[in-house]
Amino acid sequence: MQMKRDYREDFPLLMQNETAYLDNAATAQRPACVIEREKAFYETENANPMRGFYPLSLAATESYEEARKTVRDFLNAAHTEEIIFTRNTTESLNLVAYSYGLTNLKPGDEIAVSIMEHHSNLLPWQMTARMTGAKLHFLECEQDGTLTEETLTKGIHEGTKLVAVAQVSNVLGCQNPIEEICKRAHEVGAVVVVDAAQSAPHMPIDVQKLEADFLAFSGHKLLGPMGIGVLYGKRELLDAMPPFLTGGEMIESVTREGAVFAELPHKFEAGTVNAAGAAGLAAAIEYIQGIGFPEIMEKEEALTRQAMEGIAKLPHVKILGSERPENHTGIVAFTIEGVHPHDVSEILSSDGIDVRAGHHCAQPLLAYLGDNVATRASFMFYNTPEEVERLIQSVASIRRRMG
Ligand code: PLP
Repeated sequence: MQMKRDYREDFPLLMQNETAYLDNAATAQRPACVIEREKAFYETENANPMRGFYPLSLAATESYEEARKTVRDFLNAAHTEEIIFTRNTTESLNLVAYSYGLTNLKPGDEIAVSIMEHHSNLLPWQMTARMTGAKLHFLECEQDGTLTEETLTKGIHEGTKLVAVAQVSNVLGCQNPIEEICKRAHEVGAVVVVDAAQSAPHMPIDVQKLEADFLAFSGHKLLGPMGIGVLYGKRELLDAMPPFLTGGEMIESVTREGAVFAELPHKFEAGTVNAAGAAGLAAAIEYIQGIGFPEIMEKEEALTRQAMEGIAKLPHVKILGSERPENHTGIVAFTIEGVHPHDVSEILSSDGIDVRAGHHCAQPLLAYLGDNVATRASFMFYNTPEEVERLIQSVASIRRRMG
């Protein structure tokens, strides 16, 4: 039997740093293989991809297109051209809102968004609604994050044309029933846009099984580089959509009067692409696949359970969302009565623990839950029980230290 190993040694920053890094939902750390891959691109393959017919440019193009295939397999997408490289989840979602939304929505149509959306999957729809005359409908969850049958039945109906929902909430950590939502949406002729920013790093995704129409994630939350993200879209939908950004790289031909756009996926990749970032993202995906999601999920659930059991025992501390660690996907957001989360995070920081404090770019959710702000610890498989114990001990001491 292969021994499970401690993956920390793969992460240069973790090896040089004493702090307990528990802000992984904001951005993850990178393993050396990802850093090395990006470096190797610049040292041995750097040229503008897709523009030159000389060996360096061809090598850059090949790395970039190989990365696309790695992402295709990671998501089990049916076609390589269904994978569009963007900068991040935010840009992917804006692409869908501007290109699909502005073309397909009209006055009176409904866009259903869950109340727990990150601002990146809300503001593009607020904007689209304003520009097209469509209406936003909020799917409101229970305190534990559940979207009930009744909520889905009431919120997804004949007038619904688009549903925008996170697979995993960045505050509650709960997992939404994407397959069920896609089924309901398709029955009424609506498309579904899935924000997978918080799910892609922690669980296998099969876009064909989910039947998602669009799905977005960021490289940097998945151990990959910053500045590279992904939009998956069904080929027939992407084919029918106009470009989001126009300019170089995304054309077949240009005349004084107009342009013929390139085929998918390049139609949506205007300007010089982030080929080094794509290569780094492919290295991150391969690294994750080398460990395997079963082990990643087991480790992260154990850390979450330990944190929740320890924190739940503390007086004046409330954990947001479900009581069950398996419904948290490594995210534990909490409030401490009488102490502002900014003070909480400062005290934790003075104890060498990095967490996020504030509204977590999900202000409507926090207002709906009545909390407005919270502190969030978020775990990755490379965190340790010792780090979680430090978190619990530090949280336990906060009210006393605040006087
Ligand atoms: N969606 C969710 C659920 C997130 O947690 C985040 C980032 O925290 C985003 C979208 C935005 O990601 P990015 O800043 O990489 O575009």
